[in-house]
Amino acid sequence: MAWVIDLDGVVWLAKREIPGSADAVARLREAGERVVFVTNNSEATLSDQEANLAAIGIEAEGRVITSAVAAASILDVGSSALLCGGPGVREALEAREITVRSEGPVDAVVVGFHHDFDYETLRAAHRAVWQGARLVGTNNDPTYPTSDGPIPGAGSILAAVATAAGVEPEVAGKPFTPMAELVRELAGDGPHMVVGDRPSTDGLLAAELGARFGLVLSGSTDGEDLEAEEVAPDRVADDLAAMVAAELAD
Ligand SMILES: [Mg+2]
Repeated sequence: MAWVIDLDGVVWLAKREIPGSADAVARLREAGERVVFVTNNSEATLSDQEANLAAIGIEAEGRVITSAVAAASILDVGSSALLCGGPGVREALEAREITVRSEGPVDAVVVGFHHDFDYETLRAAHRAVWQGARLVGTNNDPTYPTSDGPIPGAGSILAAVATAAGVEPEVAGKPFTPMAELVRELAGDGPHMVVGDRPSTDGLLAAELGARFGLVLSGSTDGEDLEAEEVAPDRVADDLAAMVAAELAD
């Protein structure tokens, strides 16, 4: 089986390992399972994500798919884009030989989470869409979890640009088709098991893939929210370690 494992709230919280997650990944690999990591975090580069995983004992080179890579995947090789995001988006665009500009006209405006978003960036992004660029969001999560509570996420920045431009954005990350396509390419044919902490993204990605959904309570969702969620998990566990133990025991 291929396991598709979310990072924030599953493997780590604020880059600190959720206890047992590295051992759980090791158990999966010993059992012959394929493992792919998926994240809607578009700010970090792939090498940063791989290094952060290596730092907690998970070898993941070439096994991480970010929403930045998903966003770049739907743009033509050699096209141009206005960057309204962080280093991970820049890296993903440049990997497809997409020319990155700070002013339109361009083929696409790519919006992702970044801390230095300001009115000038919003003005340039709006202007480029007004001139005819596609509006592409890495993801539309309204908030991003931190150890100090939620902060505005990429979806909030994307909403600002979309509101100004009066267009519906294309969204690339979980749970949308571009991310699902990349998962299929990297993880191979099913069956798949998606493990995540958010039914609204991870659960819907599982549905998109026709996969089982394992919900862990180590991140954004706590047990009391479950009744209100639209995607029923196939299994609920406290964390990745408990999820893997239960699945391998079946
Ligand atoms: Mg998560």
